[in-house]
Amino acid sequence: MAPRSARLLLASALIGLVTAALTWALLGRSNPVRPGPARPSGGSVRELRVSVIVDNNPGPPALKSAWGFSALVEADGVKILFDSGPDPDVLKRNARELGVDLSDVDLVVISHHHGDHVGGLPYLARVSPGLLVYVPSGADPAVLRSIRSLGLEVTELDDPTELSNGVWTTGSMWGPPAEQGLIVNVSGLGAVLITGCAHPKVELMAQRAAEIADERLYAVLGGFHLGSATEARLEGIARVFRSLGVEFVAPLHCSGERARSFFREAMPSAYGDGHMGLALTFDRSGVSVEG
Ligand SMILES: [Zn+2]
Ligand SMILES: [Zn+2]
Repeated sequence: MAPRSARLLLASALIGLVTAALTWALLGRSNPVRPGPARPSGGSVRELRVSVIVDNNPGPPALKSAWGFSALVEADGVKILFDSGPDPDVLKRNARELGVDLSDVDLVVISHHHGDHVGGLPYLARVSPGLLVYVPSGADPAVLRSIRSLGLEVTELDDPTELSNGVWTTGSMWGPPAEQGLIVNVSGLGAVLITGCAHPKVELMAQRAAEIADERLYAVLGGFHLGSATEARLEGIARVFRSLGVEFVAPLHCSGERARSFFREAMPSAYGDGHMGLALTFDRSGVSVEG
């Protein structure tokens, strides 16, 4: 028979095991794992630069405007192309005029499968073959096949996902079509949301971005798709933006002239005129606007 001290040790170890099992079972029951947006890692970037390479709102004459959207996003040196505009030649020409080198882009994020957002990809495939392209799950399989046929690697994303430190996608949201926005968490400032067309509604994308970042949403820019929005809807969007702490709004692409002038008047200190060649730098002190 084991000595008394050994029996006591064994007994206390058994009690410990039973207690741990009970605690695990009880906690497991009271805190079920719920599906939903993944929580951020706490990652953020010191500096975010966004350069509009393709947009239908004209800028300097040397830059060709075209219906569509593309922006280069540089998050502490990680180069992300967000959408590619409608045409490889427009992407090539504007990148050259802006002095932007797309041969060393780290990854591509496509908001949704419409041609005015994926049409420039053949140029990217030429200068940076094999590049990883993130698309929202639910995108048109025929478009995904054509992107793969260019020699690019396609990854479909369903849930909010951190793509690099402090850089997130909203995950796939339904418009139609399926669409994702890009979120960058800027240290000491808050989150910046970039949208392609915002078919799932820009206010819902903004709310989701704030939830994922778990931060104040500092800025929203990109296509808002508000050509036929009523005044009441526009006012509702401004209310949502204000409630999330938005201090910078730049409607681009398909936002529509009426929506652009609405935000210019409703949020004058926050309004940024979105157009070809716009270059924004975000850091803890706020945003600086060039172009
Ligand atoms: Zn579009
Ligand atoms: Zn679209």
